[in-house]
Amino acid sequence: MAVKKFDVVVIGAGPAGYVAAIRCAQLGLKTACIDDWTGRDGKTALGGTCLNAGCIPSKAMLEVSEIYARTSAGMDDFGIKTSGVQLDLAAMHKHKSKVVRTLTGGIEGLFKTNKITRMEGRGKLLSNNRVEFTPLKKNARSEEIEAEHVILASGSRPVDIDSAPMDGERIVDSWGALDFEEVPKKLGVIGAGVIGLELGSVWRRLGSEVVLLEAQDQFLAFADRDLGKHALKSFQKQGLDIRLGCRVLSGKATAKQVAVEYEDASGKKQTLKFDRLVVSVGRRPNTDNLAVEEAGLQLDEKGYVDIDEDCRTNLPGVYAIGDVVRGPMLAHKGSEEGMAVAETIAGGKGHVNYEAIPSVVYTHPEIAWVGRNEEELKAAGVEYRVGTFPYAAAGRAHAMGETEGIVKILADADTDRLLGVHIFGHNAGELIGEAVVAMEFEASAEDLARTIHAHPTLSEAIHEAALNVDKRAIHIKN
Ligand code: FAD
Ligand code: NAD
Repeated sequence: MAVKKFDVVVIGAGPAGYVAAIRCAQLGLKTACIDDWTGRDGKTALGGTCLNAGCIPSKAMLEVSEIYARTSAGMDDFGIKTSGVQLDLAAMHKHKSKVVRTLTGGIEGLFKTNKITRMEGRGKLLSNNRVEFTPLKKNARSEEIEAEHVILASGSRPVDIDSAPMDGERIVDSWGALDFEEVPKKLGVIGAGVIGLELGSVWRRLGSEVVLLEAQDQFLAFADRDLGKHALKSFQKQGLDIRLGCRVLSGKATAKQVAVEYEDASGKKQTLKFDRLVVSVGRRPNTDNLAVEEAGLQLDEKGYVDIDEDCRTNLPGVYAIGDVVRGPMLAHKGSEEGMAVAETIAGGKGHVNYEAIPSVVYTHPEIAWVGRNEEELKAAGVEYRVGTFPYAAAGRAHAMGETEGIVKILADADTDRLLGVHIFGHNAGELIGEAVVAMEFEASAEDLARTIHAHPTLSEAIHEAALNVDKRAIHIKN
């Protein structure tokens, strides 16, 4: 059988790989994409972690659980009488699955439209840009394919901890925690990071008592400290029991429960019993069996595929993008790298601005930011000015009943250039887009302050925070 030859072979069809494949095909390159994702139903699907077990299903559950929490708490203040609000968890899961199917089916359609060869199975990098393809189909034989360029986009998987090994039943990862068939009465979460907070929020809203055990003493250590403080208070008020400075000693599952032993911040041993335990302590790159040793693919000291600023590995014609390389593990970061690499391969100049990648935590209220926070600026010795504005002073926030929150803008003390924008409040994830564009255009705080924002909108809080950098906000005392 003749060896199949492609201009580009992409390994992995998550948001990094599928976007790279589509862009390569758009640019006229003969492209194949190998992916081995298999759902719990045994069916294959494109979209990787993001579409099948990450961003999309978690946001579907966050949306509907928030609607449930709001309606079941009552809306008398709004003049809306509710009664008989009931949870139908099976229908909620159905909604989530439908959203996932619609979107993964959409990618399938795009692959067809763009004439991308979809290969369902595992890909392994061999020497000289050859790839071994092992089909998922039973008894199908592996074959070698050749490519001018190979893009590695194999993504990441959850980190597990020896003290609380996952069994997929009582002790689960984020994927398992998206699919509980009944609301756990008591839910334990190890790690109060992004996943812990998002999934903890989902189950809290649906009725679980949720305890999060976090190793670090500081809450949301990677976010701006002020925002972290606001968020911690807010989440505690919602009933999330967040315990900082904890060292988990053991998590033991029986048929019906999980007993977790941990050392609290004062060094005292504690034991808690849960119906389910979620382990969400970070993710690690999928590099096992990604390349044969003779290929000579270089990994960095943390086990990520080692790349330069243009996502080139140490092997000519081999690139790597997304969660399998350094940088934040975010879908939009991987997609951007995918597009940039495709442009580079096609002879253009791809570029990713790592200074302007937005982060969003989809709690309620949301936390969103772009650029650097105060602690990072202090550590770098950068002089800056701060402007803040509370949601409580924005008219639209009152109309919506969403007055909890704050916008904080950091601008260079000399040049006024925006260095970071941090938002804790309703719709922060949508609002941050404006700040990302401003930073991409290297705007100053004054540029934002002189930009007309529609009234009444939440975006006026950004406008006023920008005015407050120069101590001339209108609706607060500067
Ligand atoms: P992946 O999406 O992991 O895709 C990699 C694909 O490659 C998979 O299909 C995998 O099966 C396949 N693969 C791996 N090895 C091979 C091989 N050798 N051969 C063939 N196929 C292979 N990010 C956000 O930006 N926003 C969010 O709201 C968000 N929410 C999240 C919620 C959860 C619960 C989780 C777990 C993650 C979330 N993320 C979010 C992170 C986001 O999912 C990842 O950053 C993103 O999916 C990474 O994309 P990727 O293409 O690099 O890898
Ligand atoms: P994370 O890094 O956000 O949080 C992990 C938390 O676990 C940290 O606070 C860490 O201090 C803590 N931790 C680590 N080891 C621990 C231990 N032994 N005991 C107790 N706590 C421990 O990681 P995650 O929440 O697992 O998410 C993984 C990745 O997925 C993140 O990098 C994130 O970028 C991505 N993600 C993004 C979104 C989003 O963009 N909204 C949502 C979910 C996931």
